Amino acid sequence: MRIEILGSAAGGGFPQWNCNCRNCHAQRTGTFKGRARTQTQIAVSNSPDSWFLLNAAPDLRLQIEATAALHPRHGRRDSPIAGVLLTSADIDQIAGLLSLRELQPFRVYCTASLRRILQEDNSVFGMLNRVPGQVSWTEILPSETFPLLTMDGAESGLTCSVFSLGCRYPMYVSQPRAAKLNAEEALLGATLQTETGGRVAYMPAVPAISESLLERLESSDVVLFDGTFWSDDELIQVQGGGATAREMGHVPVSGPDGTLKRLAGLKRPRKIFTHVNNTNPMLNEAGPEYAAVREAGWEIAEDGWNIQL
Ligand SMILES: [Zn+2]
Repeated sequence: MRIEILGSAAGGGFPQWNCNCRNCHAQRTGTFKGRARTQTQIAVSNSPDSWFLLNAAPDLRLQIEATAALHPRHGRRDSPIAGVLLTSADIDQIAGLLSLRELQPFRVYCTASLRRILQEDNSVFGMLNRVPGQVSWTEILPSETFPLLTMDGAESGLTCSVFSLGCRYPMYVSQPRAAKLNAEEALLGATLQTETGGRVAYMPAVPAISESLLERLESSDVVLFDGTFWSDDELIQVQGGGATAREMGHVPVSGPDGTLKRLAGLKRPRKIFTHVNNTNPMLNEAGPEYAAVREAGWEIAEDGWNIQL
């Protein structure tokens, strides 16, 4: 399995267009020790002919252009992108679908609830089904293992297992609408596996860490995990108000119940933070937070990394 990390920042990217926090300001003025990042996106493949996107970031068009493996190869119109798995309806996980509207056939794998939000409530996504044979939607259950298929309908050699991680829908989904949806389908984690056993766990948003989640992580070779916020009150400190990390559905990296502590016992996987918010001090490679993360055996994903399993 090959994994391309196309983007590694949380919603807004780094730097974020309207943010003048210490990190964003230093990045713009060229004094920051650390890379700029586009919004979180990965692509996985078991063969060069079929790639699968995990979610669809708002930066997707530029991310595809920056990645030769995802470029067209045959004829005038072509793409090796065979499918997109959606793990939530967050804007930074779905907006990129609108950049894939140029009549190219591919599959979208998502829960029935996500499909209803996109297809019934937001007519702009109708552009994905403007002509017959364009995008085909495959509904998945919030706890299911299924093969990812090539455009010909053959098995790609990649199997995906999803599991529910949270029950809150994005703010743009109204309360009455959310009440009619299956809460278990709001936020999924995913593990992808090849026939030869290589396994990656992908969860850019994790509201809570359970024992069963720890078992899933320990059975993986690579873990790409929620690194959104360093501390629970990070945004409140930067903005002078607002929500905590946990209220926003993200376990913070630091603290007594933070990810570094809770996942300290993992032995098998390579551990990589992704979906890092522009305010997170661990982005600064000259700072103590970065040193603490590296000391704990974690890496912080950068755009353009690739991993072979
Ligand atoms: Zn910022």
